[in-house]
Amino acid sequence: MANCRRLSGAGLREVLGPAQGLLFDCDGVLWAGERPCPGAPELLERLRRSGKAALFVSNNSRRSVAELERRFSRLGFPPASAAEHVFSSALCSALFLRQALLGGGGVGSGDSGGRVFVLGGEGLRGEVRDAGLRLAGEGESAPAEPVRAVLVGYDDQFTFAKLAEACGYLRDPQCLLVATDPEPWHPLSDGQRTPGTGSLTAAVETASGRKALVVGKPNTYLFDCIVERFGVDPSRTLMVGDRLETDILFGKNCGLSTILTLTGVSRLEEAQAYMASDSAAAKDMVPNYYVDSIADLTTRSGE
Ligand SMILES: [Mg+2]
Repeated sequence: MANCRRLSGAGLREVLGPAQGLLFDCDGVLWAGERPCPGAPELLERLRRSGKAALFVSNNSRRSVAELERRFSRLGFPPASAAEHVFSSALCSALFLRQALLGGGGVGSGDSGGRVFVLGGEGLRGEVRDAGLRLAGEGESAPAEPVRAVLVGYDDQFTFAKLAEACGYLRDPQCLLVATDPEPWHPLSDGQRTPGTGSLTAAVETASGRKALVVGKPNTYLFDCIVERFGVDPSRTLMVGDRLETDILFGKNCGLSTILTLTGVSRLEEAQAYMASDSAAAKDMVPNYYVDSIADLTTRSGE
């Protein structure tokens, strides 16, 4: 059972030594806003040199993978932090919809699969286009193809009119309702909070009477995408994250050992409260280990 133990010294070597790879959340783990977490680039470089895989699982649906890749290089991370190692909720939602609407046939399959109505920014819209899907409102021909899915992501231009349009499509029971991630809010650098995709999804669910399928963490779909591409062994893979309700539960759901880093959203006291709870669901959000920051994983990571 997970018991939220501080990871250091011999314990650190015992845990990291046999690991083949680590999955990292990004916001609050590798960086906070435009500042890399101290020691994060050095840790990734050491992992690379010691032959351990580093993969990135982000619920951020605002940026495309290409934009995330540029962020890695802008903040001084090693070149090995490349696009093929990033599995964002935007990318994986697009892959999920391609599978659901085109049966995996993708571009040139001859089946248009209908259109997707996206509540989200250009980063998310680009991933959906790159998956071979057509967007509602773009290049419509008469008669327009039906909208087969509503995809809710981080949309800082969310309006009542968009909500009403989404609900109109969702009157059709064949139209899927998919959300990129469940995040209720995100921390800002000044201590304030900004609404997350989960709050917009709740509006769509309430107004439409439908329930969204949420692709991002803690759903295991991001891990399924990783396994399909890299064939990782869950028993030798660690999940490092800063949010108990998404990152740590995701790790638990995927059968990974989990490490909470205290540079982001969740506090140690919250993990301890989940551990003290009688609820099995609460215990699933208790990490195996915690560190003050991922710099604490650096010292012996290559051994
Ligand atoms: Mg995070």
